[in-house]
Amino acid sequence: MFDNLSDKLDKALHVLKGHGSITEVNVAETLKEVRRALLDADVNFKTAKEFTNTVKEKALGQNVLTTLQPGQLMVKLVKDELTELMGGETAGINLSGTPTVILMSGLQGSGKTTFSGKLANYLKTKKAKKPLLVACDIYRPAAINQLHVVGDQIGVEVYSEPENKNPVQIAQNAIAHAKQNGFNVVIVDTAGRLAIDEAMMAEIANVHKAINPQETLFVVDAMTGQDAVNTAKTFNERLNFDGVVLTKLDGDTRGGAAISIKSVVDKPIKFIGTGEKMDAIDVFHPARMADRILGMGDVVSLVERAQEQFDEEDARKLQKKIAKNQFGFDDFLNQIQQVKKMGSMKDLVGMIPGAGKALKDVDIDDDAFKGIEAIIHSMTPTERTQPSVINGSRKKRIASGSGTSVQQVNQLLKQFDQMSKMMKMMQGGGGRKMMQAMGK
Ligand code: GDP
Repeated sequence: MFDNLSDKLDKALHVLKGHGSITEVNVAETLKEVRRALLDADVNFKTAKEFTNTVKEKALGQNVLTTLQPGQLMVKLVKDELTELMGGETAGINLSGTPTVILMSGLQGSGKTTFSGKLANYLKTKKAKKPLLVACDIYRPAAINQLHVVGDQIGVEVYSEPENKNPVQIAQNAIAHAKQNGFNVVIVDTAGRLAIDEAMMAEIANVHKAINPQETLFVVDAMTGQDAVNTAKTFNERLNFDGVVLTKLDGDTRGGAAISIKSVVDKPIKFIGTGEKMDAIDVFHPARMADRILGMGDVVSLVERAQEQFDEEDARKLQKKIAKNQFGFDDFLNQIQQVKKMGSMKDLVGMIPGAGKALKDVDIDDDAFKGIEAIIHSMTPTERTQPSVINGSRKKRIASGSGTSVQQVNQLLKQFDQMSKMMKMMQGGGGRKMMQAMGK
């Protein structure tokens, strides 16, 4: 995410970080570089200029030049300003109303339908809501089908009227259906066009007026940079939407949209989409995003994701097993599965401070565990609980069963052995506290 921008900002600030004493010329040069980095990332020109001016003023106001660690103070100023630029506080979603009505808007291809599904899934699994998805695209039957496919995937009902050509009526009927059937959130997916078009605008404005939603979200593809910002402006003038959803942040996005959209339309980014799967949705936190852009990682999100996957009871059970020397390959497999649920490897690595930058060019793929999983799946229950029984002929069988080599099997056995020993050692003193802390 935003690799290029991170790189350039890092280089710009690098000079200051290393210097004991900093001159006014240094600061000015650094800010010039920062501005260039922002412009390269497709940040709006006015926004970039204002940004560096504000940082400069603050730096002068706080006498950066005479502080003990001027470089660090400058980094902090840049970080704070970046956070502010992206909205400052985390903006929540308004779930009032019975039912809560959420209207999705945006151009075709922005990821609106995919996001409608992700949001329904998020509200269902994380907020214990009963959502209803509504297909209001009356032009493309494929769009209605797509929403049905998404709904099936996440177990959420989809309301559609393929014969009805009146989107206002469909949306109103859907809300009535929701009230009668106990749905407490209605997510209305509307028709998009490839470009801004008056008929589309009029149509969505009509739907908006008729259903008076609690939340109108504007979905935009982050890859489109400045275009994204311009489209947002047009939609906002017509709909006065409540928040922005930035999709495709997992791609090679330059970051301009994320950074400029708030200052241009004065509406917060509420969610981000980071992949095609239904769980690739995150609440947008400006401060955490600023940390990531500046290569400081995002430990808070990483820990939150871990907490969602690992519960305390499981951690305690695991601890007991380790103490009794009963940690086996099934437990190992279980751990791998939980880590995988936390998100894509590349995404997780990006959250570790410094790691994103260090491993920027390394191809981290999500199939990294596949070989290990295949080997474990080829083991018998006894082999999984007592790896010591795995002799030469068993190794051969496991290798051929899993499509790997004896060498790979050996490697895994060795790693597992080392890991077991380490776990046992950690049980001794400080390790226990560490495990407890991790389980919390
Ligand atoms: P719509 O026309 O606005 O409804 O857009 P779709 O939901 O059909 O999405 C268009 C394409 O973008 C599809 O191929 C989606 O799988 C893909 N897509 C949507 N959101 C994301 C995302 O966050 N990341 C990635 N990589 N692809 C996405």
